[in-house]
Amino acid sequence: MQVDKNKPVLVTGATGYVAGWLVKQLLEEGITVHAAVRNPDKKEKVAHLDELAAKSKGTIKYFKADLLTEGAYKEAMTGCELVYHTASPFILKYDDPQKDLVDPAVKGTQNVLESANQVASVKRVVVTSSCASIYGDNIDLQETKNGVFTEEDWNTTSSLTHQSYSYSKVMAEKAAWEMANAQDRWDLVVVNPSLVIGPGTNPNATSASFDIARQMGDGTMKMGAPGFNIGAVDVRDVAEIHYQAGYNPNAQGRYITSAENTNFLELASHLKEAFSDYPLPSRKLPKWLIWLTAPAAGMTRKSVSNNIDHPWKADHSKAKRELGVNFRPLAPGMREMFQQLIDSGQL
Ligand code: NAP
Repeated sequence: MQVDKNKPVLVTGATGYVAGWLVKQLLEEGITVHAAVRNPDKKEKVAHLDELAAKSKGTIKYFKADLLTEGAYKEAMTGCELVYHTASPFILKYDDPQKDLVDPAVKGTQNVLESANQVASVKRVVVTSSCASIYGDNIDLQETKNGVFTEEDWNTTSSLTHQSYSYSKVMAEKAAWEMANAQDRWDLVVVNPSLVIGPGTNPNATSASFDIARQMGDGTMKMGAPGFNIGAVDVRDVAEIHYQAGYNPNAQGRYITSAENTNFLELASHLKEAFSDYPLPSRKLPKWLIWLTAPAAGMTRKSVSNNIDHPWKADHSKAKRELGVNFRPLAPGMREMFQQLIDSGQL
C-alpha cells in the first residue's frame, strides 16, 4: 500500500520518547504531522516538537486527544492516509493494571482504529507494539520453534497480575489485528521494539526506558545488576523502522525491532569508561539474592524464577531484509542517554 507524502500523517502520543524521533524524521522529510497529544497547552510537553518543526521543512499541527475518549482522534485523522499509533502507557509504577495499563492500551487502540474505519482517506495504520507482545517471560524462549523469538511468536503467558504491561501490549496488538482483518481498506503494519535506549528529543522524557538507565547511575544497582537478559535497540532505529513501516509499500506484518541480544550488565558496561564516577553495576547479582529480596523490590518471585539468568534471543532479520534497516550499536546511545539524564539534573 503506497501512501502519499504530500498528505498529512497522524502520530498519536506525539509527546512520547519513541514518537519524538519519528516526528523529527517526518518533519525533516517535509511532511505535515498531525500530532495528537493529551494536552497541547502544556508547553513543557510540546516545546521540543515546536523546535524540531521550526528547523525543518515540515509542519506540525496539534490536536487534543485522550485514548479513552471515544472518537477523540477522528478530527486529527481527517485527510491522513497514514496513521502512526504510538500512544500507550509505558510505566513501571501503577495502582490498577486494568485501569492504568490495559484500558488505555486496548480500548485506546480500538478507539484509534475505529476512527480509521470511519475516515475514508486512511490507507495504512502502523501500530507501535512491543517485543512484550511476542514473549512474556524469558523462559518462554524454551517454547519457541528454534530457540529464538520471531514474528510468529505470541505472548501467551502474561496476565493482568503477571507482567501486566506485557499483557496490555499483547492484548492491544491482538485487538489491532482483529480490526485490521475485519476490513480491507487500510492495511496494518506492526513495530515490535525491545527495550528502547538512546537520548530523547525531549530531555524531560517520562518513558520507563529512562527509569532503567537512571537506576544504573543512581546507586540502585551499585551492588550489582540482576541477570536480566533482554533485547535493546537505539531509539533512532525504532524511528527509522516506523518510517519504513509507514512509507515502504512492501512493509507487511510484524517487525521485531531489536538491535542486540544483551543484558543489564552489558548495557551498563557501555557507560563505564565515560562515567566512572557513578555507582554503575560491575557484577551480576546472584539469582538467590534477587529471589529473596524480590518482594521488597516490587518484583514477584514468579517473575524472578521465569526471567533472571534465562537467555533471551530474538531474530531481527525480517526488518533488515524487508525494510533495509541496519541496526546501530547500543554503546553510543547508552552514553548519550546517560549524559542527557545528567544534563537535565536527573542524575
Ligand atoms: P512514553 O514516552 O511514556 O510515551 C507514551 C505516550 O503515550 C505519551 O505520548 C503519552 O502521553 C501517551 N499516552 C499515555 N496514556 C495516554 C492516554 N490515556 N491518552 C493519550 N495519550 C496517552 O513512552 P515510549 O517509550 O515512547 O512508548 C511509546 C510506545 O512505544 C508505547 O506504545 C510503548 O508501549 C512502546 N514501546 C516502548 C518501548 C521502550 O522501551 N520505550 C519498547 C517497546 C515498545 P503524555 O506525554 O501526555 O503522557
